[in-house]
Amino acid sequence: MTARRRSRSRIRARITATALAAGATALGLLSVSACGQDDREESADGRLRVIASFYPMEFLAERIGGDHVSVSTLTEPGTEPHDLDLSPQQTARLTEADVIVYLQGLQPAVDEAVAQSGVDHIAEATSFTTLETHGNEVDGTRGAHTDGGHAHEDGEEGGEGGEDPHIWLDPVRFGEVAQGVGEELADADPGHAADYQRNTERLLSELDDLNGEFTQGLADAPERTFITTHAAFGYLAERYGLREEAITGLDPESEPSAARMRDLQDIAEAEGVRTVFFETLVSDETARTLAGDLGLETAVLDPLEGITDESAGADYFEVMRANLAALRQALGATAS
Ligand SMILES: [Zn+2]
Repeated sequence: MTARRRSRSRIRARITATALAAGATALGLLSVSACGQDDREESADGRLRVIASFYPMEFLAERIGGDHVSVSTLTEPGTEPHDLDLSPQQTARLTEADVIVYLQGLQPAVDEAVAQSGVDHIAEATSFTTLETHGNEVDGTRGAHTDGGHAHEDGEEGGEGGEDPHIWLDPVRFGEVAQGVGEELADADPGHAADYQRNTERLLSELDDLNGEFTQGLADAPERTFITTHAAFGYLAERYGLREEAITGLDPESEPSAARMRDLQDIAEAEGVRTVFFETLVSDETARTLAGDLGLETAVLDPLEGITDESAGADYFEVMRANLAALRQALGATAS
């Protein structure tokens, strides 16, 4: 949308909102404004304006907000979200949001813009769960994972470590984030709190089912190690007792070293790795080179950093189930 079209539609939105508000006042429908002065400026259709930083946050806002929210996303579909640049228009639009849903530590430009937005209702994903430090190697095969338990500091073998932001790929952590987002929406829009709570509970039960499918689906896999492009699946590996070896670190832009490529060759041979995974939004060049050198197969494991036509599903659950199928295949799990 051009800037001119955007501003025109905003003017129209204001006029409509004013007309609706006038109509509502006439009908005596505004009596439920419990918070004294209502400084919340609703979108044209009276819905809460939510801005999400990238796909997994958009998914939560839409599923929990339902009909009461209008969600827009800062990261365009098909754009790799790490190190996203924001346009001045996006930064300006952020200040007009009723609620912002984002994940700190993934997109520095977003972190900065949110901090300066002055928006009252901000749901920050990592504040609702626990973070761990991961490098490009995460070994979840050593003992059961416990919630909020060990800090996993494999500084030496991990390399390029840091606080791992990829919490949405662990259905349990994603559920914790969902609860936090639900509470923030209810806070911003108390009139619909019961709906947000009901939607949150429904989503949590679906995430619980997904967690069960992963636990069961991977329990009988004879191989436990998988190779990915960037280190997005550390929390998932830990949750289900797998070992993730990534070509690059937590950021897909980083370049793999020759030493890392040699390590991966050794690991692949020692662990009987059959498949090198690549992603939809990141170049598959190094993954294909490594697979070619070792005579391994390639397949897609989607870190869900965005949904496009290339994605193996239309939403979080569909793509996660495609990921489970891809992992089962790569790890030699028997078909059920
Ligand atoms: Zn990532």
